[in-house]
Amino acid sequence: MAVIPLFGAAFRPLLDYALPPRCAACGVIVHETGTLCAPCWRSIDFLGEPQCAVCGIELPSAGEDGQCGACLATPPPYERARAVMRYGEVARTVAHRLKYARRVSLAGVMATQIARLLGEVEPDSAILVPVPLHRWRIWSRGFNQSALIARHMSKRTGVPVELDLLRRARNTPQLHGLGRRERARVVQGAFALSPNAPSRLAGKTAILVDDIWTTGATATACASLLRRGGAARVEILCWTRVTHSDD
Ligand SMILES: [Zn+2]
Ligand SMILES: [Zn+2]
Repeated sequence: MAVIPLFGAAFRPLLDYALPPRCAACGVIVHETGTLCAPCWRSIDFLGEPQCAVCGIELPSAGEDGQCGACLATPPPYERARAVMRYGEVARTVAHRLKYARRVSLAGVMATQIARLLGEVEPDSAILVPVPLHRWRIWSRGFNQSALIARHMSKRTGVPVELDLLRRARNTPQLHGLGRRERARVVQGAFALSPNAPSRLAGKTAILVDDIWTTGATATACASLLRRGGAARVEILCWTRVTHSDD
């Protein structure tokens, strides 16, 4: 008896008809899978120049050395941090649908945009490091969104992903609603490097991947460990960044 594949070629037109591609943010029907509709696309506030060469915060004008006062006063434990877009409706909806509605295909949409922020890196001398989730949260959610995004970025760029290089040493409460100082305090000691991290980090550009930069507490804590572990250079790439913190 011939085995008929469930979604074989014969079923494709029907399936396409039944499941038209939808905008990754608002859900209206679009032409192509993994894209946004024109109004959602236009509403995005992409972050760009002039911005601090290090932390990526927007500057009123390009300074002499291109760095903000905070980075000049206290150099952060990374060389460069960038986010695709300012936190807003589209940024939030896409990130939340991936995380809470398990729309895992959105990781690819996010990865395509984040990969554009990647500077000049040699795939052999760089690694992608997703911000880890505590295992309890992975059990309840089923996946780590940053790891999914990093995997898609790896497919596009050829830069390998190092999944268990960084670990959650302990679970942290939801940071939602906490101010800058409280967040920094809560994440202190929350992460740890795997014992073989120094050999995996030596001479490498470690590119930390995260979905949302709120105050930067989590990313900065991770970056500082990667630096301590011996990375030659540390970069942070995010999907979105909250640019007006209320603390
Ligand atoms: Zn839309
Ligand atoms: Zn800065």
